[in-house]
Amino acid sequence: MIIVASKGITTDQLDRIRERVEALGLRTHVSIGESRTIIGCIGDEARLSHVPLLSIPGVDSVHPVMRPYKLAARDFAADRTTRVSVGDRLFGGRACLVAAGPCSVEGAAMMAETGRAVAGEGAALLRGGAFKPRTSPYSFDGLKEDGLRILTEVREETGLPVVTEVLDPRHAELVAGYVDMLQIGTRNMQNFPLLREVGQLQRPVLLKRGMSATLKDLLLAAEYVMSRGNMQVVLCERGIRTFGGETRNTFDLAAIPWLKMETHLPVIADPSHAGGRRDLVAPLSFAAVAAGADGLIVEVHPDPESALSDGDQSLTFDGFAALMRDLGVFAEAAGRTL
Ligand code: PEP
Ligand code: MN
Repeated sequence: MIIVASKGITTDQLDRIRERVEALGLRTHVSIGESRTIIGCIGDEARLSHVPLLSIPGVDSVHPVMRPYKLAARDFAADRTTRVSVGDRLFGGRACLVAAGPCSVEGAAMMAETGRAVAGEGAALLRGGAFKPRTSPYSFDGLKEDGLRILTEVREETGLPVVTEVLDPRHAELVAGYVDMLQIGTRNMQNFPLLREVGQLQRPVLLKRGMSATLKDLLLAAEYVMSRGNMQVVLCERGIRTFGGETRNTFDLAAIPWLKMETHLPVIADPSHAGGRRDLVAPLSFAAVAAGADGLIVEVHPDPESALSDGDQSLTFDGFAALMRDLGVFAEAAGRTL
């Protein structure tokens, strides 16, 4: 931690700051410059996290030098990458995994049809929401446990491991009993009771970036899950809120290489929610894979026009087939397979 002293700090104030820091077992090193005095704090920075340093007279600003996350930081993993197994698939290996399926599980027939179609085109996982977080309380909010049952039936038939969203800490065990991977959606990235709950389960977690979250917030959310013992976390960039309404969200492409440098966890992208339009899904997918994403999660529907949620951004089966065909070159260029 580096403390920058206010201009005109008195010797008494400087001594008080040093006493406060040293009382917590850290050492201090004062460097008096021409215009500024800097107090370097040497030792366990975490001990200072509870001290309201800015309110101590003579403190102008405070600059942490350590990362606030430990388990999620890249150096935590011996070879700096973690592989997360979901069923017999592996996130973070050479293969770029594509999870595909409808936004919502709407029924058994459409789900089976979609499962067969995406499996045939090389999808690695099946997605589908049974508990849906809807912005309006009047929108379709999923088939709940019936939806989970349908997902397991389609897994049985297609062999695809299943990822679905969990909304409520009280449902975490129930959902984990049915599916292979638990999705935490953008609206719940900082639902701390939910993060703690999934942290206690031994099910891989797909953690989506909050729509207004920084990448550090995302890593701290992952840290919540990991600090409870569940290290199987895959991160997902799904677009954030900026300005302009031409696209549903702003796809933060730089997030992918930044996260890959900062954490050992696998990183995937969701081009469907990022762009909000079917015709943006392929270009965003290409960019994500070229930037080093370990996979994608893509919405696909047998008849997007009649979808109960996110029809505008859902690919048709033909659209998904074209995406998978064209994605191959980008995967290869990035040294990956599909
Ligand atoms: C979804 O995957 O359907 C979803 C609701 O995603 P997000 O949380 O990113 O909006
Ligand atoms: Mn959706």
